[in-house]
Amino acid sequence: MSDQSLESRKAFAASYFSKCVKCGSEDLKEVKKTEGCRHNGDAYGYTVFTCTSCQWCTRFEWDEDGDLYYYEVPNLKLYSAK
Ligand SMILES: [Zn+2]
Repeated sequence: MSDQSLESRKAFAASYFSKCVKCGSEDLKEVKKTEGCRHNGDAYGYTVFTCTSCQWCTRFEWDEDGDLYYYEVPNLKLYSAK
């Protein structure tokens, strides 16, 4: 069951996707899923990050066509800036 709460994802993005927000472990497994491909060849999908210690997990959407690979992150960073 993935944790999609804003609070958790803000914290996870702030650690550059490297630290479990639940137990603090830096041992995370990344699984990339491709959902589709556009006519120009750019793919899009999401990545599931799972902590190997406590099984906490979350997912972030990505897009090869965007300026930012994990395009949800700028908004999340804005939220965490206050
Ligand atoms: Zn963990």
